[in-house]
Amino acid sequence: MSSAGKSGPRYALGMDIGGTHLRAGLYALTAGRLERAPSPIASLREKVGDQRSPEALCSRISVILKKLWLSAGLPESDFNVSEIALGIAFAGMMSGHEGHVANSPHFGWRDVPFGKLLRAELGKSSLVILNDVNAATFAEFEINPKSERNDILCLFVGTGIGAGAVCGDQLLLGATNTASELGHVKVAWGEDARLCACGRRGCVEAYAGGVALQSRAQRELADNPSSLVVALAGDISSIHPGHIDQAAAQGDIYAQSLYSEIAPLLGLALANAVTLLNPDMVVLGGGVLDNAPVLKEKALEHFREFVNPPALIGLSIRDARYADSAGMLGAALFALRSSTL
Ligand SMILES: [Zn+2]
Repeated sequence: MSSAGKSGPRYALGMDIGGTHLRAGLYALTAGRLERAPSPIASLREKVGDQRSPEALCSRISVILKKLWLSAGLPESDFNVSEIALGIAFAGMMSGHEGHVANSPHFGWRDVPFGKLLRAELGKSSLVILNDVNAATFAEFEINPKSERNDILCLFVGTGIGAGAVCGDQLLLGATNTASELGHVKVAWGEDARLCACGRRGCVEAYAGGVALQSRAQRELADNPSSLVVALAGDISSIHPGHIDQAAAQGDIYAQSLYSEIAPLLGLALANAVTLLNPDMVVLGGGVLDNAPVLKEKALEHFREFVNPPALIGLSIRDARYADSAGMLGAALFALRSSTL
């Protein structure tokens, strides 16, 4: 029988299950802990594919656990799931703290007891499932030296807008595990407010999220094919937020007027979150912000204008350090933190 119950986990496995790709990394622990900025001893990245039922995903996770163990060169006879702290970062809205998925448009799931199914599949009671943005936030938090890591707020602007916060050394999850949904903070209201993917109107994501920006520019520039945005993209259907940003940097009227509308809204949402939480570090990341320096700079100008001034004292703002690996690493770290093995 394993001695894991007394000595704790020897490995941590983090898995980031997104809408298109799945990434997983197995990490070796030193005295029950992970080093700062660790590298996995085995990892994989594969397409999620069409098999998206809860049952199919659970059995796939089981296969991946074993696969990573073997590809790390560990003996098959030593494989023991109870010695692995397991964390899953999932692209979906959670409900409660037991891995219940309230809604995941990527997987077509509503009210799925994912945690319960996965525990049954693996025969493992201690595992954590958390929202992928919260997992990425936890990785960005843990990378900081102890002396610098207190309260952080992460803002990710990619296809949508997500945020996460660590307050007083604890990942902020909220009563029902839906804290930090900054993308769905309202910045407009009424019938003219833009419709968000969540079904409500006026969310900041409906203005400044990557999908919203891209589809709006494609629609509005259909009648204006001479715009620099279109020239940079090659054609209307190839426009992405990076082209809008390059055009704005070169003085394009359309791009600049679009930014004069959305940069204040993004700055407003961030300012209100910082006013509320008073973090000592803000981390910015995501595919849009990484490729839109003009938008980032303008949003930050508005952020400084709107935020409660005392909250700016000592506040540092940095770019996210992890890109693709943030979710899997954060999930592994959070599983380790939560481990009751
Ligand atoms: Zn929304």
